[in-house]
Amino acid sequence: MKLAMIGFGQAGGKIVDKFVEYDKRHDSGIVRAAVAVNTAKADLMGLEHIPKDQRVLIGQSRVKGHGVGADNELGAEVAEEDIDEVQGAIDSIPVHEIDAFLVVAGLGGGTGSGGSPVLAKHLQRIYTEPVYGLGVLPGSDEGGIYTLNAARSFQTFVREVDNLLVFDNDAWRKTGESVQGGYDEINEEIVTRFGVLFGAGEIGQGGEVAESVVDSSEIINTLAGGGVSTVGYASESVENDSSGGGLLSRITGGNEETELDTAHTTNRITSLVRKAALGRLTLPCEIEGAERALLVMAGPSQHLNRKGIERGRKWIEEQTGSMEVRGGDYPIRDSGKVASVILLSGVTNVPRIKELQQVAIEAQENIDDIREESEDNLENLVNDDEDELESLF
Ligand code: GDP
Repeated sequence: MKLAMIGFGQAGGKIVDKFVEYDKRHDSGIVRAAVAVNTAKADLMGLEHIPKDQRVLIGQSRVKGHGVGADNELGAEVAEEDIDEVQGAIDSIPVHEIDAFLVVAGLGGGTGSGGSPVLAKHLQRIYTEPVYGLGVLPGSDEGGIYTLNAARSFQTFVREVDNLLVFDNDAWRKTGESVQGGYDEINEEIVTRFGVLFGAGEIGQGGEVAESVVDSSEIINTLAGGGVSTVGYASESVENDSSGGGLLSRITGGNEETELDTAHTTNRITSLVRKAALGRLTLPCEIEGAERALLVMAGPSQHLNRKGIERGRKWIEEQTGSMEVRGGDYPIRDSGKVASVILLSGVTNVPRIKELQQVAIEAQENIDDIREESEDNLENLVNDDEDELESLF
């Protein structure tokens, strides 16, 4: 499907930048337009693939291009004040050509955390296209203020978008790696998962004939109804011999070798579906109770088959208890792997969010206590004990 992506804040900008690069590399045609919004000039300058005239610096009169310093209330205020400048960049997007907006942000910081729900609300008011969010949760080692920011932003962002796709840095961070190196890898993971998912509805000229291709409307219907979503992914390398067998031999069928091939293909698909659902999700959660799901099998068409996908789809139905599980192909001719992507939409059993909220409440209480205490302490320091001195004015 074709998206207008808006990256808000540093993480949001970097992820959208990487989506643009992924889109060029794979010719997947999902990024119809890309915009970056930030209060920090340096972050905007560090981007590589988003066109310069699509990078919007907001809040200049308030923070002079230096960012909001993890103050997400200020991030939200600045976004509201300068929404016209953001709209200016969106005006250049041919909105009639897009299927949806995707607003991307790290929820633990200031600019993206505060600004992305404001932008989502604004877009909902103006356009009829769905507005999705891609929200990144901070690592639990980032500290109380980031957790508090994320918990407050999450609550607001979910309310303002048609669906919030969540990626949890905490589940993906690796020990012993530099933060930057770690983020590069994590961002690659993000764009691969969401790239395959959104690419599914966008089969261009290079695309192949498939048995049951996933359409944009199936992604939209799976996300419709709102709430929170998570994505599972698993892949396996395959020999990509596009000249042999494949669809044609499946149709003509009959000989033993082809049947063996088919059984092998079907089994591979079923096992990839299980791996994707039971492995690490972008937001770890219990898949039972997910309201809707979409299974996308991507890869060279001779390695995809309807039977495998149907079996995988049924298995997801059993695991989630959902009656609304869609599934289909995403044929990619030159791919050296078969991948299974599962979008689980409307998940509600998410211990990580409850834990985040608990830590956020504690952080908020601590911050209030410390603030009160420090006011008293300052008072004691500045004023003499007996109140004998008088201020000048
Ligand atoms: P902002 O510029 O004020 O919106 O804040 P940032 O985007 O710099 O940071 C917000 C949060 O996003 C941080 O707390 C991190 O958890 C996360 N973050 C920052 N950079 C990246 C990145 O490149 N990738 C990912 N996945 N997360 C990031």
